[in-house]
Amino acid sequence: MEFFGHVIDGAEVKSSGGETFTSVDPYTREPWAEVALGGAAEVERAVAAARRAFDEGPWPRMGRAERGRLLHRLADLILEHADELGLADTRDMGKPITQSRGNDVPRAADNFRFFADHARLTTAETLPMDSGHHAYTRYEPVGVAAAIAPWNFPLMLETWKIAPALAWGNTVVLKPAEDTPASATILARLALEAGLPPGVLNVVHGYGPDSAGQALTEHPGIDRITFTGESATGRVISAAAAGHLVPVSLELGGKGGNAVFADADLDNAVSWSIKAIFTNAGQVCLAGSRLYVQRPVFDEFIARFTAAAEAMCLGDPKLDSTQLGPLASKTHYRKVRGYVETVAEEGGSVRSGGLGDGWFVRPTVITGMPATGRHQREEIFGPVVTVTPFDTEDEVVALMNDTRYGLNAMLFTENLSRAHRVSARLRAGTVWVNCFFVRDLRAPFGGAGDSGVGREGGTFSREFFTEPKAVVMQID
Ligand code: NDP
Repeated sequence: MEFFGHVIDGAEVKSSGGETFTSVDPYTREPWAEVALGGAAEVERAVAAARRAFDEGPWPRMGRAERGRLLHRLADLILEHADELGLADTRDMGKPITQSRGNDVPRAADNFRFFADHARLTTAETLPMDSGHHAYTRYEPVGVAAAIAPWNFPLMLETWKIAPALAWGNTVVLKPAEDTPASATILARLALEAGLPPGVLNVVHGYGPDSAGQALTEHPGIDRITFTGESATGRVISAAAAGHLVPVSLELGGKGGNAVFADADLDNAVSWSIKAIFTNAGQVCLAGSRLYVQRPVFDEFIARFTAAAEAMCLGDPKLDSTQLGPLASKTHYRKVRGYVETVAEEGGSVRSGGLGDGWFVRPTVITGMPATGRHQREEIFGPVVTVTPFDTEDEVVALMNDTRYGLNAMLFTENLSRAHRVSARLRAGTVWVNCFFVRDLRAPFGGAGDSGVGREGGTFSREFFTEPKAVVMQID
């Protein structure tokens, strides 16, 4: 079995007591990797190393161009190691290799390139004053950032947090999800190879509650917490951050609504709606899990949609032909299975899909679910979509906004006025019109309500990972 250690102060290390855990490949359902199991002691060492690297090391003091050069070198190495990184995420959580190697790895490299350039090219403000003074702003690194990541897009989401933190001159302690540890260690090895100084990027593996995750969020030596995960965990982390007044960025769950109007290009709507719910087996915060179709095209849409869902290729996620892999873990499979098994008793019917072999759930299309039922309210986080007819624009806006989440929404229409009107009325951090999942790293990313607090991306990440300072000078 391969071994993945913590990376602390420039070295890959075991836990002080030698404890380990295994990562299970959800396709074979066998352990494939042994991982160092950290706790408060490893967090202590990692935060101390990050603190030293920030207070005494070259990283915050070197110019942005030099930091950017090292981060671009890291991006190059990520692409050179695309097979290894992609396979690590695929074996850890069952994501098809075409997505991990083909999408997540290039996006991880892009995260470093984008934020390296963004930090280098961003200007600050000068503020002419009438009083014979002038003021200007400086955006200074904050110190040690704690990053806690989920298992659904391990490498991509970890780098989404790490890249802006590092580009702005901070040091980082990352705790990956326990189900997906491997790519984080590989990334930290590559960061050292790229020339990042010891202690700048540290990785501590371990469990969340009562262990490494909690020790990290409660540690008095950290200056920021950036977290992506479930809304319930977000509440716990928010409370921990409040305990020592540390700003926290929370990217949490979602229950994306997706409206298909009768005037939509149906081929386009079907194609994106399939991607919106079945990419990564629906284990996507942005998943379009509540689909609403205007009544005149309901039957035609659902016929085409279920045909496309049934045509998806399920199988070994390591094969290029596979479009949908197993769910990420036994625990998660059981959770999603619980939703599939209770469709009929909650008033709906399964039009297509259902349970597969092993930890597979087939692309599952449900109709007839009441708006107040669990399947329409809760984040299932699997390849399961509810489809509901609607008549009017007002009705679908009300249905889409009838959720405690507010991460994203989609709408399909050829009517430009409707596209703008409905986009403005939806309560969501991102609205996609006639598309899905298209991202610009300058755009704000995050959600309202139970979907999170704060935004990341472009200048929004700068706001979070820097301390803005005003300098006021007397001229006369
Ligand atoms: P969890 O909230 O269970 O875990 C996320 C991370 O937090 C893991 O590393 C976990 O460790 C850690 N953790 C758990 N409890 C604590 C604690 N008390 N203190 C500190 N750390 C803790 O989320 P999942 O991993 O299940 O991820 C899926 C969720 O993430 C979904 O709700 C999804 O919508 C959301 N998500 C949101 C995104 C967004 O951008 N808004 C993007 C992607 C996912 P461990 O794994 O060891 O328990």
